Amino acid sequence: MKQLSERIRGVSASRTVRLSGVIDSLRRQGHDIINLGVGEPYEAPFPDILSKTTAALKGGETRYGPVAGIPELRNAISEKFDGYTGENILVTNGSKQALYTALQVLCDPGSQVIIPRPCWVSFCEQIKLAGATPVLVDTKAHQLDCHAIEKAINADTRAIIINSPNNPTGAVYPKEDLRAIADLAWAHDLYLISDEAYEAFVYDGWTHRSLFDFPHIRDRLIVAGSFSKTYCMTGFRIGYAAAPKEIITAMARLQSHLTGNVCTFAQHGALAAARRDPSHFHGWRNHLQKKRDMTLEMLKDLPCDTPRGAFYVFPDVIHCLKKNESAEDLASEILQRVNVAVAPGEAFGGDGHIRICYAIEEKRLIQGLERLVQVIHQRTGATAP
Ligand code: GLU
Repeated sequence: MKQLSERIRGVSASRTVRLSGVIDSLRRQGHDIINLGVGEPYEAPFPDILSKTTAALKGGETRYGPVAGIPELRNAISEKFDGYTGENILVTNGSKQALYTALQVLCDPGSQVIIPRPCWVSFCEQIKLAGATPVLVDTKAHQLDCHAIEKAINADTRAIIINSPNNPTGAVYPKEDLRAIADLAWAHDLYLISDEAYEAFVYDGWTHRSLFDFPHIRDRLIVAGSFSKTYCMTGFRIGYAAAPKEIITAMARLQSHLTGNVCTFAQHGALAAARRDPSHFHGWRNHLQKKRDMTLEMLKDLPCDTPRGAFYVFPDVIHCLKKNESAEDLASEILQRVNVAVAPGEAFGGDGHIRICYAIEEKRLIQGLERLVQVIHQRTGATAP
């Protein structure tokens, strides 16, 4: 029997997706798992999103559509990007596909792509699938180390991936640092891929800064965005890429051989979402900020930088680990002993940390954190307050 390709043998499965599978199977066996591990808001989509989706489904929007997305949705998304039209937008199966496709289109074998670490689980594997090499550059207190990023640039560097607000750390990068990265990309003639899936989740009065705010790099910038988190539509699989037309045309060419169009009636649901008044979001954001604060308070024994965005906290658990133990060992003990799922930091290149998603129902969040703290206290010998 011939072997599978070297390409796929060099890639590991997504650890966040794998965790979802483990949780599902434990639940099917009757375990009451509290899921703080997978990044997904628990709320249902807004009723108008659901009614537009079902209306489209019943109205016959069940056939192939244009590969790059229905024109109304492309146009609606483009309104966020000054000077862009629908032709600058590719509708994709989640921002995950936008990122994958961008890397396939931009990289050659031997290319290098710089990513600040810790980073989302799929970046490295997607870069490898594009025949390129991920170059991980450590952050400092979860903020960009622009000097180290500049030092990592060489003749093979093709792109830098920036993800703010960040998954897994929740860090939001200030405008000056984004400008420094934009200037680096311009000076070294690099592409920039900006994963802005958590753009709507910024707290403490901070505002989301997009790399699109810097006009001098728009010719080399691909923004990946998502409806999944902002509108609680993870299962719809609607994301997008916003980029110069020639890049979008190339990405659509690849998509024409890969998935074709994204589910037609789901795109109509996304269109309803895109047309919503963004003010709906303020109350929810305040609520999430309170959950973040509560999570940090309940985990006060674990060192943790205050995350200003996304819906994760990423505490340091090194002092809870026994000799030769990893955060993954701790995460599996927490799951087995108290039925709480958290994501181990190793999945994100953040050894000695765990990622906790607080975008779940408040009562379950409190219960989950109480159980988690119980394990931590048992390990550190601390007594519960
Ligand atoms: N992005 C989410 C997470 O990090 C969902 C799972 C995934 O696609 O990675 O948990």
